[in-house]
Amino acid sequence: MDAICIKDLKKDLKRSMDDSRFEHTLGVMYTSAALAMRHGCDLEKAMLAGLMHDCAKCMPNAKKLKIAEKNGLEITSLERKNPFMLHAKVGALLAKKKYDIDDEEVLGAIRWHTTGRPDMTLLEKIVYVADYIEPKRDKAPNLPLVRRLAFEDLDEALFRILSDTLDYLGDSPEDVDATTKETYDFYRERLQK
Ligand code: FE
Ligand code: FE
Repeated sequence: MDAICIKDLKKDLKRSMDDSRFEHTLGVMYTSAALAMRHGCDLEKAMLAGLMHDCAKCMPNAKKLKIAEKNGLEITSLERKNPFMLHAKVGALLAKKKYDIDDEEVLGAIRWHTTGRPDMTLLEKIVYVADYIEPKRDKAPNLPLVRRLAFEDLDEALFRILSDTLDYLGDSPEDVDATTKETYDFYRERLQK
């Protein structure tokens, strides 16, 4: 993946996103790059995945649903109720079909960036964590801690994000994605928590 390609994609995304989403996108791209340097991941893939992770976020929810249905993506009842949750699945699809990205690792990082999944690849972890800690984020609990952990122990950072996310959603368990819970359980076991 060469630099020109990133540049063209950036231009295209800027047009399809509002300003704050585009700023967030750049934040995730560069934070993914920094984490890739720290943890020995492919830099170009990390930047590409970070850049594209929210490529389907700004389309109307009805369109997300329509694309998902048309392409036979599995839609959970939670996603049908909250179609914005589909932006990861639909984003991976768009990245492939519209933007001609065929790197399965990159597509996986886009696909799993909202829920995580058990036994994630390094690239998937990087984009998941970068999405949470990029510099424009300011609302999540424990950000200073998670930002430091991300550069010390990626799995610990990942686990912390999962557990804070579940705590945050704890008041409305019906809104918790089953995959997020599975991912949390997997890493709790792996890290012997
Ligand atoms: Fe997202
Ligand atoms: Fe994002």
